[in-house]
Amino acid sequence: RRRSPWRWYLDVPLIWKLGVALVLGVVVGLVVGPPVTVIEPLGEIFLRLLMMLVMPLILLTLISGVASVSPKTLGRVGGKIFVFYLVTTAFAISLGIGLALLISPGAGLTLTGDEEAEAQEAPGLAEVFTNIVPENIFTALSEGEILAVMFFAIIAGIALSYMQDSTDERLAGLASLLRRITEGGLEIIFLLIRGILQYSPIGVFALIAVAVGETGADALLPLAALTGVMYGGIALQIVVYTLILLVFRAQIGRFFKAAKEPMLTAFVTRSSGGTLPVSTQAAQQLGVRKSVYSFTLPFGATVNMDGTAIYVGAATVFVANVTGTELTLLQLVTIALVGVLASIGTAGVPGAGLIMLTMTVTSAGLPMAPVALVAGIDAILDMGRTMCNVTGDLVGTRIVAQTEEGMLVDGSTEDEPDEEPH
Ligand code: ASP
Repeated sequence: RRRSPWRWYLDVPLIWKLGVALVLGVVVGLVVGPPVTVIEPLGEIFLRLLMMLVMPLILLTLISGVASVSPKTLGRVGGKIFVFYLVTTAFAISLGIGLALLISPGAGLTLTGDEEAEAQEAPGLAEVFTNIVPENIFTALSEGEILAVMFFAIIAGIALSYMQDSTDERLAGLASLLRRITEGGLEIIFLLIRGILQYSPIGVFALIAVAVGETGADALLPLAALTGVMYGGIALQIVVYTLILLVFRAQIGRFFKAAKEPMLTAFVTRSSGGTLPVSTQAAQQLGVRKSVYSFTLPFGATVNMDGTAIYVGAATVFVANVTGTELTLLQLVTIALVGVLASIGTAGVPGAGLIMLTMTVTSAGLPMAPVALVAGIDAILDMGRTMCNVTGDLVGTRIVAQTEEGMLVDGSTEDEPDEEPH
């Protein structure tokens, strides 16, 4: 019996299709150049399909995840993941600064052109905190304010868990109905994610071709040293993740087998937020319970950006190189501190890192003009740093789940009462 082309397509493992799409995208981008932007809509549709699911996914997973644990467990998970995210980001920015100081990626380069980049203000810490409480939950949902939506979902989940334990039969009955509706809604979303992943090779092809075609090798070459430092830093950071996983006796092979799809999705979409549906699936494959990943992943997508931290550190030193400035220790410390704070206050969307770069450059008292140079190849740098950002979120999620009793189910056990079967 002949298989239909569609069946045949479905049977090829996703990662192969994505690999082919990636290579084809680079080739087509390089050969065709800027006109390749005509296929941009194919990539844009992929991005939109993912974004379409992000807010409902966060809302539903968190409500149902929080409703099944005690507030105490939740607080502990929150504390641990926050420390993990903070420490790894601080390490990452030091890594970026250190590598760049060692290599001086901007040495020998002088500014051409008179483009100016615009400075941005670092978000105030008080503002970041206040904005966590939404003024209007519907605005928060429609504007994609992840932290605000998380806040609402968490308190709604806690309320739901109290209702479930209520002695009032009517309340307890309503609570269990709501739980079932939430879980039913989630199943729909998980199914949609699997469907969207079958479209992803086409989206990947288009996004890569456009990014490469628009940037072009000409723009990349003068900044090759900066690109090299960035990707080298990201590689080192991933080695560090691997060591952390080893310390926690996690199976490295299994981890990266699950992580490769979100890593690639992050690479091409350049958005940690947009990658959430795919990272959620990976966390499930790793056996992490919903009660953990429903919190740690969206939280990480907004506050944890290790790749961006490497980039900000390296690119700020690059700006100093280009302008012939010797950075003082005080400036270096300022860059690190502002970088870490900015990474907490900036959302996981394409190009967010560039905004953070303007903040660190201004706070170190450096001129803004060279930032325009970096902006020219931002797409290429954004791909790597977003991939690293998402990997960091997954490593933290995996490890925190392990330190909490019953939050990591072994892949070999078939029954996962609270989890979605795979
Ligand atoms: N695009 C990155 C992210 O979504 C942020 C950045 O621009 O560095 O994580």
